[in-house]
Amino acid sequence: MISRWWGALRRRQTERTLARRAIPDELWALTLARFPFLTRRPAADQQKLRELATLFLAAKEFAAPEGLEVSDEMAVAVAAQACLPVLRLGLSWYDGFVGIFMHPDAVQVRREHTDEIGVVHEYEDTLSGEAMEGGPLMLSWRDVADAGESAEWGYNVVIHEFAHVIDMRDGVADGIPPLPDRAARERWAATLQAHYDAHCADVDDGIETLLDPYGAEALDEFFAVASEAFFVAPGDLRAEHPALYELLAGFYRQDPAAET
Ligand SMILES: [Zn+2]
Repeated sequence: MISRWWGALRRRQTERTLARRAIPDELWALTLARFPFLTRRPAADQQKLRELATLFLAAKEFAAPEGLEVSDEMAVAVAAQACLPVLRLGLSWYDGFVGIFMHPDAVQVRREHTDEIGVVHEYEDTLSGEAMEGGPLMLSWRDVADAGESAEWGYNVVIHEFAHVIDMRDGVADGIPPLPDRAARERWAATLQAHYDAHCADVDDGIETLLDPYGAEALDEFFAVASEAFFVAPGDLRAEHPALYELLAGFYRQDPAAET
């Protein structure tokens, strides 16, 4: 009884948010026009994406350093891209965090790494985005804004970071998102590992790869990089790595290459 009441209440809240905080037509049209990989989607998907983006904006909080104001245009650009991977899975996959920190550009950070014999190495790292378990999530606005052009080489910082969020949903960043059962996990691990090994070999050999060479860093990065290509360059991914495409299509329950 309680759960039925709760469900009805939540549905009413959702409807109210969709009605009151709907993304204005003009702003939505501008957002779609900016990102061709969204324009290519069927009208029904675009409508669903707009609703999810509205609910996303109502649930998340944006922040920025002094000197950068997060405009509606910026927030919608992030929301529309972030909601693409969960178009069929649902927004609850992003329940684990609230804050999104926008930097004007990529940021330089100091990193420390202790090697096997205990020597600490310090180095500079350039970040266009970062996702941590429990958030907040960090994004470089320049990279977000350029996503229309960078889709040509399969690059998308928003999808990359939100793929990490999806991967970490089970508490571990290992390239294996929560899956229904053990058989699915085993199949996933085997397929991902095989493609990862081949990708690392290509990168080592200096071969130009469709997937970002950064994916050779680790399995979780490979999953994030493959997800970027899946959503912004789906036809290329399907042509070059059909089994990997198939795996991601099954998980995300989407077939974006069918529309290209
Ligand atoms: Zn990453």
